[in-house]
Amino acid sequence: GDLLSVLEKDQVNIMITFTNAKQNGNLQNKFRTTVRSLFHFTSKPVNLFILGDEHSEAIAKDILAEVTQPGKYVIASLVKTVHEIVSEMQKYFSYKPGAYFSDSLFFLSIVVHQVIPDLHRVIMIDCDLKFNADILELYNHFEKFDENNVMGIARDAQPVYRHNLHMYRNKFKNTRAGGPPPDGLTGFNSGVLLLDLDRMRKSRLYNSLINAESIKNLTEKYMFKGHLGDQDFYALISLDHEELFYVLPCTWNRQLCTWWRDHGYADVFDQYFKCEGHINIYHGNCNTEIPKL
Ligand code: UDP
Ligand code: MN
Repeated sequence: GDLLSVLEKDQVNIMITFTNAKQNGNLQNKFRTTVRSLFHFTSKPVNLFILGDEHSEAIAKDILAEVTQPGKYVIASLVKTVHEIVSEMQKYFSYKPGAYFSDSLFFLSIVVHQVIPDLHRVIMIDCDLKFNADILELYNHFEKFDENNVMGIARDAQPVYRHNLHMYRNKFKNTRAGGPPPDGLTGFNSGVLLLDLDRMRKSRLYNSLINAESIKNLTEKYMFKGHLGDQDFYALISLDHEELFYVLPCTWNRQLCTWWRDHGYADVFDQYFKCEGHINIYHGNCNTEIPKL
């Protein structure tokens, strides 16, 4: 009721995961940078959905009050609903129960079209970002989707899926799976997601893929072992169904992590990491500091 009454056509809907934030000053600071920069550049009213536990929501409210005016955002708690839907799928994507990413919120994007039936489009973002452009420009990328695309997502900027798929790649030397841009099926980074929820609801293909059996089949086919949450799922299904994804330009999710450069992939790293043009969103992934702009 309340949650949806505020949704109007002329607003940008944004969901941001912010959970386990109590006693995590680092996460709180990241969140502050993300929302401050977001509100600094936006030319549209923003509906902000905070996804997290009660404590984190309270902290988010304080930070938002600090960096923007009231009435620009709503707070929604969806944790319980989501948990039931994703708990079955989750086991195929976590190292072990209780692992960092085994929290069901990190799978919400996959099923959010089922959880919130009246929302049409939403941008889902990490809280370790820094905006350097108007989010309306990002929102306009929805118009560039072709008819089969259900979501927009940038490639992963490291050879992480090259690594996760190394067994398959050894067996099938000419595969595009895990290869670099522009021709490879590189895999994705879910720090910035454009979700066309109507398309997600309508797509028979997409909905046929979001169940444990289908995921099991795909992980076996590609000998894939993941641990990163939703982006592993998207990387995996893109191997057979590339057409579901609009590839967002790297400038809208400029990942800064360089971990894989120093862990066996120095030779190919730059093919994945390269990103030219004006950086619209910096993503300080793997705890990487974002440069002062
Ligand atoms: N997150 C959170 N609480 C945590 C850890 C993560 O709310 O304790 C959310 C937050 O939105 C974060 C996202 O999950 O941006 C993904 O985690 P992170 O950005 O650390 O992963 P990375 O981008 O480094 O892979
Ligand atoms: Mn992140």
